[in-house]
This record gives sequence, structure tokens and C-alpha cells, in this order.
Amino acid sequence: MNKIKILHMYADMLDLYGDSGNMEIIGYRCKMRGIECCIDRYSVDSEMPDFSAYDLIYIGGGADLEQQHIAEDLQKCRQGIKSAYDNGSFLFLICGGYQLLGRYYKDADGVEIPGLGIFSYYTVAEPNRKKRCIGNIVVKTNITGRETEIVGFENHGGQTMGVETPFGSVVCGHGNCTGSSHEGYFEKNVIATYMHGPCLAKNPEISDYVISYCLNRKSDAAVVLPELDDALELKCRQVMVERLVGKQEGK
Ligand code: GLN
Repeated sequence: MNKIKILHMYADMLDLYGDSGNMEIIGYRCKMRGIECCIDRYSVDSEMPDFSAYDLIYIGGGADLEQQHIAEDLQKCRQGIKSAYDNGSFLFLICGGYQLLGRYYKDADGVEIPGLGIFSYYTVAEPNRKKRCIGNIVVKTNITGRETEIVGFENHGGQTMGVETPFGSVVCGHGNCTGSSHEGYFEKNVIATYMHGPCLAKNPEISDYVISYCLNRKSDAAVVLPELDDALELKCRQVMVERLVGKQEGK
């Protein structure tokens, strides 16, 4: 089936640093390949959707205040999101969204926002508001089967702990905690990351991992995506990696 159905949650409140761009990128890369892509939106007090009808559920990042605003509504969606995840829908989560699918997020004032507890990690913010993890980040990941250095931008006070299967290892930047060696959370149908950017605009392989997963789960035969011309994206990334970690041999 050559169609992907996406549910973008809380786009009006969780959209730091252009996180919504991630869904534009998925839509664009699908369109270039003739794959139909439909993106529905859900926000506070929308009619409860059938979460399992979606191939991909996406939540972006946000400040503590926005996280508080959506927290109660998100709890109403818990069962639907959990069932969709159990049925193999893909969860793509950025920063504030990443935090809220874990057990809880305790903000800098010590206020605890309950998470959905679908994953066992938890996040506690640095009480000192000046001690945030901010800056460009380079992460090495091999979720596609090929080790790739990806880039993004992080800005979070939250320190995420208890992650057993990270998205990647930190080459430059912080990741899950200050000075951490690991970034994000990964399962075959989950990418949760602190990488804004938007992350998918900067890292085409990750977009294609998500698209391939969504198509493959509905297809008997393995789907091979036609290549796109990513020369510009890859060149931009290379410049960024060189700036942050230095020139690497063979590149
Ligand atoms: N408010 C959270 C924090 O500071 C999440 C921030 C974000 O989504 N960038 O950790």
C-alpha cells in the first residue's frame, strides 16, 4: 500500500525550532516518490482519534509551560497511543514530546508533569535554569544498518535517565544528560530525540528510515525507496560536522 497516514499531535503548542518541519520533510520525500501522505492534526480537546489508524504519530518539543498545558489532555490519549504503538505504529518524538512518553518530567521548579509511562525512562530538569544543554549536536547512529553521523540542535534543561536503548552515541554536544554519551531513545518503531533542527531536514536517512518502516509494516514485500538527490543536505551536514568535530579522513 503506497500511502502513509500521519497524526501530528499538538502542532500548535509543541513546535520549537520549526519541529513541524519534520512532517513537511516526510510529506515532501513521499511526494517526490509518488507516495500518498496524509497528515492529520490533533490538539487539546480535538475529537479523540483512532490512533491505531495511523502509521506515524508525531509529537514535537516545547517549553515547560506548553508541556504543562497539554499534559492533562495527553493522558486522555494514553490508551490510544499505547495500543497504536503495540500494533506497530511508529512514534517519532522530539524533546518535550520525548520526555512526556516516559514516566514523568520534573521541571526546574520541581513541578512533576506525569508522562504516559509507555517507556520507562524519566526526566528531571536541572534546578539551575542557567545550566541547560544548549547547542549543536552530532550523534552517531546505526539504526539504518549503516553508521551515520547526524546533526541537530538541542536546548533542554531536562536530564533523561533510565534509557536502555538510545538512538545514538554523542560525538559532540550533550544528549540525554549533561555530558552524556548517549542520545535519545530507540526501538524499531520509536525514535525519540532531543534533536531539533528540524532533525529530518538535516538528516535524510532518518526520514527515509521512518518512511520505509511505515510502508513496510503494511507490505508483504520489502519496500525499497527510490533514491532522491540529497547532495545539498549531505553537503550542509558535512560542513556542520567538520565545524563541530573537525575534518574526517575519507570525506
Ligand atoms: N521544556 C523541556 C526542557 O527544557 C523540553 C524542551 C524542548 O522541547 N526543547 O527540558
